[in-house]
Amino acid sequence: IEERFDAIVVGAGMAGNAAALTMAKRGMKVLQLERGEYPGSKNVQGAILYADMMEKLVPEFREEAPLERHLIEQRFWMMDDRSHVGMHYRSEDFNEERPNRYTIIRAQFDKWFSSKVREAGATVLCETTVTELVRDERERIVGVRTDRRDGEIHADVVVLAEGVNGLLGTRAGLRARPRPDNVALAVKEMHFLPRETIEARFNLKGDEGVVIEAAGTISRGMTGMGFIYANKECISLGIGCLVADFQRTGQTPYGLLDQFKRHPSVAPLIAGSEVKEYSAHLIPEGGYKSIPQLYGEGWVVVGDAAQLNNAIHREGSNLAMTSGRIAAEAIDLVKSRGEPMSATNLAIYKKMLDDSFVIKDLKKYKDLPPLMHTHSQNFFLTYPQLISKAMQNFVRVDGTPKAEKEKATLKSFAKARSWTGLFGDAYRFARAWR
Ligand code: FAD
Repeated sequence: IEERFDAIVVGAGMAGNAAALTMAKRGMKVLQLERGEYPGSKNVQGAILYADMMEKLVPEFREEAPLERHLIEQRFWMMDDRSHVGMHYRSEDFNEERPNRYTIIRAQFDKWFSSKVREAGATVLCETTVTELVRDERERIVGVRTDRRDGEIHADVVVLAEGVNGLLGTRAGLRARPRPDNVALAVKEMHFLPRETIEARFNLKGDEGVVIEAAGTISRGMTGMGFIYANKECISLGIGCLVADFQRTGQTPYGLLDQFKRHPSVAPLIAGSEVKEYSAHLIPEGGYKSIPQLYGEGWVVVGDAAQLNNAIHREGSNLAMTSGRIAAEAIDLVKSRGEPMSATNLAIYKKMLDDSFVIKDLKKYKDLPPLMHTHSQNFFLTYPQLISKAMQNFVRVDGTPKAEKEKATLKSFAKARSWTGLFGDAYRFARAWR
């Protein structure tokens, strides 16, 4: 390609599509490069789509996009090996005209999302891997090199939306490699069942959906979580833990997934299903403190590549879409002023992102990821076991006086953690949460 572009976007995931679409809609000449056979072919997500952020990009998405179920219920399970203590929130309010969250299948959704990017006028090239960033004599990023013949292409600005690995950014010295205690490795399977079976098992009708987030002994004392999401004709099920924890314990992701599937609370939900797909992917979970430099001379970084992921609320795609959109708006602002895409001018992207929920949320939880990691044995093993035992003690009717039961429960907590330990954990958790 000989021509020059206003912007090159690397990657056609949520962040890249949001950026490319926003810039193309504003009349910029955009080239988007994706290494996958088609957009979405390489992408893994649970997947919950957050409508508010999607609507800001494609207001009519509800009528057009391949959506699975709209969520009316969210369950949180704290698990030990034989039980779970649950908190469920289900509301008829979520059966609204413009539902707030949907389950999606990324391979289908990203393909549709990309069709909107093309419609808006961007050039989208798949099966094209960007191998290097091109710099000029003043070290500014001025384009990219790809694995195609004559693969050097120039643009005023490069948007790095290459996902969590961020190899290009790392190779170019724009960021450090993600640390093993800042990324989780997740494995996921798609279990196919007849639609009526899924609806009966999850108590759903029509396109209603439910998601289950699970934590506890399923991660064997490592920092991690499991999930079960109901789609129309399949159930997405997976589990992920910090890479540093896998390294430390020698546990394997598929070993954990097998145990999760065999758990007595999970097995009946997927019984008789046919597994047609499985995948593994990293998730950035270091939070605020792991965010790298977000812009520089001729470049910005968005989405997972910028570690913008809220592991506490299990939100990633919405942060990706929002950062992609905001980066595009910032670039458009610089362009409309007729100014160069210098670091000084692109700093507006960080300022706009700081003002958004993306950075505000990540900042709020800045101390939680390290706390969860350093105290993973307590939060993911000891407490779930204690809470499960306490619940069983509470509901089992066996002639023991209630006061004795309460005493036994308190004693079991103090024995496992000591009073100082308990107060210390509660204090640290409350401080990190605030
Ligand atoms: P990606 O979606 O990873 O896209 C990056 C793209 O760049 C890919 O298409 C890739 O092929 C391409 N690429 C990479 N390198 C190059 C290169 N050199 N040249 C060309 N192309 C390149 N988030 C939610 O909001 N809800 C959920 O339910 C949820 N569940 C999740 C479950 C799992 C198991 C995982 C792994 C993640 C989940 N997430 C969820 C997080 C969410 O998937 C990510 O935050 C989101 O996909 C990030 O989007 P992105 O565009 O930054 O990166």
